[in-house]
Amino acid sequence: MRRVLLYINPVLRLGSRRYSFLFPFFGTLVFCILVEVYAYFIVKDPNAIGVLAIVIFLALVIYFSFRDGVLGGLVATTITIAYYFYIIYTRNYTGERLASGLETTIFLGLVYCSLAGTIGWLKQAVDILIEREADERKRLQTVIAQLPVGVIVTDSIGRVIQVNSQVESILGTKVPLGFRMGEESLLEFRSNGKVVVPSHSSLAKALASGRAIVGREVMVKRKDGKDVYLQVNANVVRNKKGKVIAAASIINDLTAQKEVDMRKDDFVNMASHELKTPITSMKLYIDSLLLGVKNLNTARVIKIVHSLKNQTERLQQLVSDLLDVSRLQTGKLSITKEMFRLDSLIEETLDMVQVSPDEARVIFAKKIPVEIYGDKFRIYQVLTNIITNAIKYSAQGAKVIVRIKKSGGRAVVSVQDFGIGIAKEQQQKIFERLYQVVDDKEKTFPGFGMGLYISKEIVKRHRGSIWVESQKGKGSTFYFSLPVQVNKD
Ligand code: ADP
Repeated sequence: MRRVLLYINPVLRLGSRRYSFLFPFFGTLVFCILVEVYAYFIVKDPNAIGVLAIVIFLALVIYFSFRDGVLGGLVATTITIAYYFYIIYTRNYTGERLASGLETTIFLGLVYCSLAGTIGWLKQAVDILIEREADERKRLQTVIAQLPVGVIVTDSIGRVIQVNSQVESILGTKVPLGFRMGEESLLEFRSNGKVVVPSHSSLAKALASGRAIVGREVMVKRKDGKDVYLQVNANVVRNKKGKVIAAASIINDLTAQKEVDMRKDDFVNMASHELKTPITSMKLYIDSLLLGVKNLNTARVIKIVHSLKNQTERLQQLVSDLLDVSRLQTGKLSITKEMFRLDSLIEETLDMVQVSPDEARVIFAKKIPVEIYGDKFRIYQVLTNIITNAIKYSAQGAKVIVRIKKSGGRAVVSVQDFGIGIAKEQQQKIFERLYQVVDDKEKTFPGFGMGLYISKEIVKRHRGSIWVESQKGKGSTFYFSLPVQVNKD
């Protein structure tokens, strides 16, 4: 039924530039037959249809011009005029009647033609305008859909008329069309810690004041519990007369940037703390040396100097890690490659990290000779970082197992520990710059969150990869693989 209505209702066809020939042709023909049936079989007077034939066909010409443009109007006109001639012929008009019949037919023909031309042309012009408008809207919709920010467009009373998919991914919930922005609230928005009521949302404010609201920062608690930080800009759209006809709100997700800022703040805190600890103990050692250098026996002096050396090395390590991060950022980390035995380097590393016999729990389980082409010092740095992490994040005396194997043209080194483990959602992030797992217990471990980032970048520059398999509470196995083929470029 709806389809029939859509087919015959000319208003619903506005904007559609499909103009039919057959529908006006057969439509008018059917009416000619109906009028004939009426004349011969209902009123039984073939000459009693004069006014009826004019009124009905005038209406048909207007209807078909409006439905099918100039073509439809002219088709209806042609059939009508042909029918009028048919009437003159079959009713045997003669003399004056024939002359006036012909005159009327020609006059009506001209009126119908001009009606078909005018109405049909108007209909076609409106179709072109509507199509152009629809194209324009489509273009705008595509641009809005592609924007990297969330966009909500409302009408002049704040009812949502358009919303792109970014809004849903930012807010974690759909904003339905028709939603009243100034009256309802989907989530709890906060600005400067205070809940923002719907009538104070940026969009509602822009609509109420008629002015742009720029750079307002709000925080939203999503339904999945995640806090997101947004920057919202809202403004009204006015027509030529200056009347507000719509409003738009642009939502920028600042969460990632906020996280980086927070991580930077944490980093500055941690860096100051990490650098302060060795400096404080060095100062204490120096003080005790200064105070009692004459009274101290050689063994005690040697012990203090050793401690001083350890703290200096720790400081040196921290500063060199910081330098490496900065070199990585500026692309200035140099890699000097040579052929060397990876298995021997692992043994050397183990000798270096196991300085105290208490920590002698790292086992090199699978030794096979593997020669690779790379930067020996940088690979040593990767090994040291992963192995010291394994020791640092394990209980005192727990085992750490280092293995090496060859697989698919690659040397794969694994370092397994039975320590605190890493939750699934943190496993990717720990390779990011300055990332440390935030957990009350783990906070007590000293560190900068730089080691794994530096390691990942070094391995990447050797065309290798680095990853972790871990279960929280059970332990972790860090892997890195490097190509064994000699590829000296
Ligand atoms: P850090 O100096 O903090 O150790 P890293 O970049 O070496 O920095 O490590 C980043 C984070 O990854 C650490 O803060 C820690 O939370 C986690 N991590 C690294 N290695 C292990 C491990 N073997 N077991 C558990 N957690 C680890």
